[in-house]
This record gives sequence, structure tokens and C-alpha cells, in this order.
Amino acid sequence: MTDLPHTAPTPRPVTDRPVTDRPDPAGTPVVPRPQTPNRDLLQLEVLPDESQIRADIERLRKEKNAVIIAHNYQRPEVQGIADYVGDSLGLSRQAAKTDADVIVFAGVHFMAETAAILNPDKTVLLPDLRAGCSLADTVTAQGIRDWKTQNPGGLVVTYVNTTADVKAESDYCCTSGNAVQIVQNLPADVPVLFAPDRFLAAHVIRETGRAMDVWDGACHVHEAIRPEDVQDQQAAYPDAELLIHPECGCSTKILGALPELQLYSTEGMVHRARESAAQEFIVVTETGMVTRLEHDVPGKTFIPVSRTACCEYMKMITLENIRDALENLQPRVTVPADIREKALVPIERMLAIG
Ligand code: SF4
Repeated sequence: MTDLPHTAPTPRPVTDRPVTDRPDPAGTPVVPRPQTPNRDLLQLEVLPDESQIRADIERLRKEKNAVIIAHNYQRPEVQGIADYVGDSLGLSRQAAKTDADVIVFAGVHFMAETAAILNPDKTVLLPDLRAGCSLADTVTAQGIRDWKTQNPGGLVVTYVNTTADVKAESDYCCTSGNAVQIVQNLPADVPVLFAPDRFLAAHVIRETGRAMDVWDGACHVHEAIRPEDVQDQQAAYPDAELLIHPECGCSTKILGALPELQLYSTEGMVHRARESAAQEFIVVTETGMVTRLEHDVPGKTFIPVSRTACCEYMKMITLENIRDALENLQPRVTVPADIREKALVPIERMLAIG
């Protein structure tokens, strides 16, 4: 056997930073500490005084004769200060009947637009204009016009999760709570386009048997909920009842295995949880719905299907930006008069039917 030359290995720095010439006792090079701490890490934001913000909101709400309406997917503290919490249909109804001068919409942009369409003389505030909707962004007014050109005499049913100019091209609006009822009321033998949510469309087709053209849109939050997420929670909570929203990407596959399963709009979930004998429920929709259910159905347990089923647009609304919106009466959401007039028609048809 040949002896290998016995030479010590050349020490190599473990980073690009300079190495001290003082080795530690084990002979490992030591990386010196920075001489000055990273100042950025020390710029800690002072937490706002939440009780002061709540007091400001209470004062401003009275001063400005404002109503705060919040969607079921809002943050818990926002739901907690709202005058009304509900789904898109409930919020549209509240917006239509309020006698307040100012509507603060704790929701996303298309919802504030719907409130502005129903209340052209009121000030409608959306505390953060970045609060959009991935589902509403999947469809354009031009896309609807193109379908109508190819299908003369056809009817367009659009989910309320659409922009005002898409509603202006629609014959009926609907929500997940009344979509089946609206399609059942359509005249037979005319082509129908259902837009933009393909999962809700599949649910409506299953329930009504009506053939429809379907826009290929989806919400990124609901689409990402997988059957495996539901199965994992069922394994962890075997006695829990499933509350599945029809917008969810998992709904079609789960219904394939369990055809008798009911799907529920968010308001339908509240009713079902109240009347069911079950004590635990797996909530298969955006996580904010758990807050609403815990508030409205105390004493029962609600388990989110996945902690990542969280809409970042909904969570942009905070106590602070609600306070600021009330203080400044900004940012406002308005709809041009010509679009408003046309968009009002399908919204009023929806409110009249269901
Ligand atoms: S949860 Fe989905 S449909 Fe609802 S606002 Fe967020 S992106 Fe839009």
C-alpha cells in the first residue's frame, strides 16, 4: 500500500465574508460578527392602539351617518365592527335598503361597485382599492359581447363576482345562493351563457339539468382547495359534517364519490349548521367563513378545510383603513352613469327573483 503524503488541508472560508485570523479551538475559521447591527431589523413598527381605532370608527360612523357592511370572508376584527356581515346577495340587499349617507364596503371592488350601482346618490367607500378579485378578472365585457354576437337571442347569467361593465352586458346577475333559482326561471330553448365561475356553473347544471355555455373562470382560492384537503380533515375529524361551497375546485370530484352531498352558499352554511344535529363541521371555502359561523352558531365547532384557503384581497381591509376611509371619505368607488343604468337591470332582476 502506498502512503499518501501527510499534509494538512488548506483552511477555506465558509462564506465570502472576511475570516478572522483567530481560529476557534477546533480549528474552524470564525466569521466575525458585524460591527454594527442591521439597523433595518430594528425599525419595528409600533403596533396601533386598536381600542383607539375602534373608538375613532364609532365616532366617525355617527358623525358621517355611515354604515359598515362586511363580507363573510373579512378579518375577524372587521366582521366584529360591521353593522351587517353577509354574502354578496345579503350585502347587495343591505346596500339597496340603507338610509345611511355613506357605505363603507369591507369587501372587494366588484362588491363596492354593486353598492354604487344601487346607490348612485350615496358615498361608497372601499378602504383599499387594491382589493380586487381573481374570479372577476377572468371575464371582460368584450368577451360577453362576442358570445352574444355568436348567439343571437341568447341570455347571459353572470355571477355577481364581475365588474360593472360585465354586469352591463348581462341579462341576470346571480350569487351562489340563488344561481339555481335564477337559471330555473329562464325561458326554455334559448342559448344561455353562465359566467365566469366554471365550478358554480357545474353545480347549476347538475341541479337544473339545463345545458349552458360556461365561461372558463375560477377563483384562485376556491380552485386550489383539493379533494385531498377535505379527506385529510375528514380523517382528523371523523364525526364532522362537510359544508362545501360550490365555487370550490374539489366539489365536482367529491360529488362524483358522494352524489347525495349538498353544496351550500355561505348563507346556506349558516342555516345548515344551525339545523344539523352535528357538532363539528369542516368548512370548505375561504377561512373567514369560520368567523361568521362561530359568531352565528355558538357552541358548535368549525374547522377550516385548509389554512391556506385565504383570500388576500379580502384581507386587505383592516380596522385602520376603515378608520382612514371614514375620516377622509376616500377612496370612493363610482360607476359611470351609462354603465350604471345598464348594470342595474340584471342586479334588480336578481334581487326580485331570489
Ligand atoms: S375569495 Fe375568490 S371569489 Fe372571493 S373575492 Fe377572493 S378571489 Fe374573488
